[in-house]
Amino acid sequence: MTQLTIDGHSVSVPDGATILHACQAMGVDTPPLCYLETLAPVNVCRLCVVELEGSRTLVPACSRRVEPEMVVKTDTERVRLSRRMVLEFLASSVDLSLTSAEVQGYIKRYGAHLERFGPQAATVAQPPKLDNELYIRDYSRCILCYKCVEACGTEAQNTFAIAVAGRGFGAHISTEFSAPLPDSACVYCGNCIGVCPTGALMFKSEYDMREAGTWDESSQTQTDTICPYCGVGCTLDLHVQDNRIVKVTSPLDHDVTSGHLCIKGRFGWQFVQNRPDRGGAGGDS
Ligand code: SF4
Ligand code: SF4
Repeated sequence: MTQLTIDGHSVSVPDGATILHACQAMGVDTPPLCYLETLAPVNVCRLCVVELEGSRTLVPACSRRVEPEMVVKTDTERVRLSRRMVLEFLASSVDLSLTSAEVQGYIKRYGAHLERFGPQAATVAQPPKLDNELYIRDYSRCILCYKCVEACGTEAQNTFAIAVAGRGFGAHISTEFSAPLPDSACVYCGNCIGVCPTGALMFKSEYDMREAGTWDESSQTQTDTICPYCGVGCTLDLHVQDNRIVKVTSPLDHDVTSGHLCIKGRFGWQFVQNRPDRGGAGGDS
C-alpha cells in the first residue's frame, strides 16, 4: 500500500493506483472528463488536475500514479481556476449543450462562464454527418476526449476505424481519408457511442426523435435483459419511451461487456417493434 495525503487527510491505496483512485477512495469528487474506468487514461482534457506539493505544474489525477508521502490538494484557488478555464475554453468552440448532467454540474461548480470568449471565438461548428441508418456523428459537439478512438481501438473493438487527424485547432476525429462511415472499416458496434460524453456520437433513433422534438429522457425507463443473439449473454439496458425501444446500452460494470456490445446487441432490436404480429407496439413495416 502507498500512503499519501489528500486535502490534509491521510489515505493508503494499493501501489500503482492513481491520484484519482485515491480521491475516489476518500470520496473526493475529482472531475474526470476524458477518463472512463473501462478505458486507459489518455490524459488530454486536463479537467482533473490537482496541486501536488513540489511540482511546478498541476498534475492530472487520472493518470498520475501515487508515490509515498505525496501531498495533494484538490480544491485550491489555482485548481478551481484551471478547471474553470478548461471548461470555458471548451465551451468557446464546442457545443456542450448535450453533455451529461455530471459535466453540467462541473460547469456550475466551477462557475464557468460559457459565453466568456464571445461570439468571435473560433468554433468547430459543422453540420452533423448523416451517412448511415444506425448512428450520427456531430463533431460540433466533440471535445476530443479520445474515448471513441480508444473504444474503437485496443481498449475494446480493435477495429481502428477512427483516429485523431489534423493538428492544433484542426485536430478532429476522422475515419481513414475522411471516408463516409459505410466506406470505412467501421463494423457498427456502437462502442464509440457508448463512451461519448457529449452527444457527438448518437443513435440515429435518438437523433431523429430529438429533431422531431419527441425525445423525452424523463419519461424513459431502462430495463435489463440478456441479448438474444449468441451464447455470450451480454446484458442489455433497453431504453424505452412510449413502449418503444429507443436505444440500447450495456452497464459499464458488467464483467462480460464493460459497456461494450456488437452490432447485433447494440442495434439489432428493431424486430421487437416493427412487426405487430410479434406483439410490438409498432407496425411500421
Ligand atoms: S461503431 Fe464500432 S467500429 Fe465503428 S467507429 Fe464506432 S467503435 Fe469503431
Ligand atoms: S466524438 Fe465523443 S468520444 Fe469521440 S472524441 Fe469527440 S467527444 Fe470524445
